[in-house]
This record gives sequence, structure tokens and C-alpha cells, in this order.
Amino acid sequence: MTVSSPSSTHPLWPALAAARDVALEAVAETLWPTRCVLCDAPGATLCPRCAQTLPYIDALTACSRCGAPHGAVQCTECNPVMLEGAGYEAFPLDAAVSAVLLTARTRRIVTTFKDQGERRLAHDMAAIVARYLPPQWLAEDCAISYVPATAAARRRRGFDHAELLARELSWHASCEYAPLLRAPHHRDQRKLSRHERALNAARSMEVLPGASVPSRLVVVDDVCTTGATLYAAATALRAAGAATVFGATFARA
Ligand SMILES: [Zn+2]
Ligand SMILES: [Zn+2]
Repeated sequence: MTVSSPSSTHPLWPALAAARDVALEAVAETLWPTRCVLCDAPGATLCPRCAQTLPYIDALTACSRCGAPHGAVQCTECNPVMLEGAGYEAFPLDAAVSAVLLTARTRRIVTTFKDQGERRLAHDMAAIVARYLPPQWLAEDCAISYVPATAAARRRRGFDHAELLARELSWHASCEYAPLLRAPHHRDQRKLSRHERALNAARSMEVLPGASVPSRLVVVDDVCTTGATLYAAATALRAAGAATVFGATFARA
């Protein structure tokens, strides 16, 4: 006697498939329990205790323009000399914020997320970024977009980490999610100097063909190192019609 499985067109199939997924998840949770990326405590990808003790950037003393820590009075990151070095006459974003400093702990969150494929961390990271979005940014209709990974990085990881962050952030901030950019000739940035990164990024961001660009946007990335990729994204989006472009990253180097 053969036991036939219900065909995927059977009316009960969605319920059976959902039950199967729940069962598989329960088995996986038993064999490989969810553990905190930082302290290994079971139960969550980032436990509440670790989430509370991250090196958060103090928004009151950070630069109100670029989000650099301690830049409120005098910013060493977005002054004219730094901008000129990156090939810009003026700050290309309306403003930018970052949530945490890039330290050994926060770097571990980022690398576990994007290089070890722990995609559930996108939810934790986006929840943290969402708290740093000034309410006035979101007061009017504001869409959430992202700095796209290179095609090579996307292939290597199997997903685009910033895309996932943007999707999660749009959920946390109740904003429209808008994929708008691609990075067609974007070389791997990791081996480049600061100056090379700036030039490379500025040349290599373009709006997707046929995309309709909202007037007001937040562009998301995981880490802000020189600001070059956020600057390039903002420049491309402005050229395609965006009037207001903010930047938001989880960490800041
Ligand atoms: Zn923990
Ligand atoms: Zn600044």
C-alpha cells in the first residue's frame, strides 16, 4: 500500500504546511536553541540584558547633521575639509543618525548577521535603529530604502543585509519600504583605503530603472564607516527626484 501525500492543490494543504513548519521549528529549537549572539544565553538572538548594555551613541551630544558621536558642538566628521576629501561641496544628506558605536561587541552582531547568516538579528538591529529615528523625519510620508550590497556580496551571503534591515525598519517605523538603488560596479570595499572607498562609492550607485523615487526617504545601512556609501546613495536619489534624504545606520565606526 502506498501512502500518498496531499497534493499542493488540496484545500487542507496550507494548514498542513503551516503545521509542518511549526513542528520543524520546534525540532530545530530543541536541537539548536536560539542563543544570544553576545552572551550565549538561550531564548533570544540578542538578549534584553545585552541589548540594554550596547555602546549607544548619545543623541544629545552627537552631531545633529551626520550623527557622529560627541559632534554636537564641533564635528570632525562632516566639516568642509572632510567633505571635500570625499568629493562633496556640501553635506549630501539632510541628516544622518547611527545607534551604536562599532566596538568588538557590536561588530560581532553585524558579522553574525551578515557573514554568518543569522538573519533574525535584522529584527533586533532594526528595533534599535528605529528608536534613533527622530519623529520629525517620519512626520510626513517617509519611505525606507537601503544601500544595496554588491552583486558579489549578495551572492556570497545569499541575501542583502541592508535590504533585510530596511524591511524590518519599515515595519518598526510604520513606513513604506522602497527598494530603489543598485550598485552595479561596486568593488569589495573592505580592501580599499578611506579615500578609495569614497571615490569608489560616489561613482557606483544608481537608481533602479523605472523606479519611482518618493520625495522623502530614509536610507539604511548596517555600518557607517566614512559615510561615503550613504553620501553616494543620497546623491543618486536626489538626482532621481528625492527632495529629502536621511541616513540611518545601526553602527558607526
Ligand atoms: Zn546576551
Ligand atoms: Zn557631523
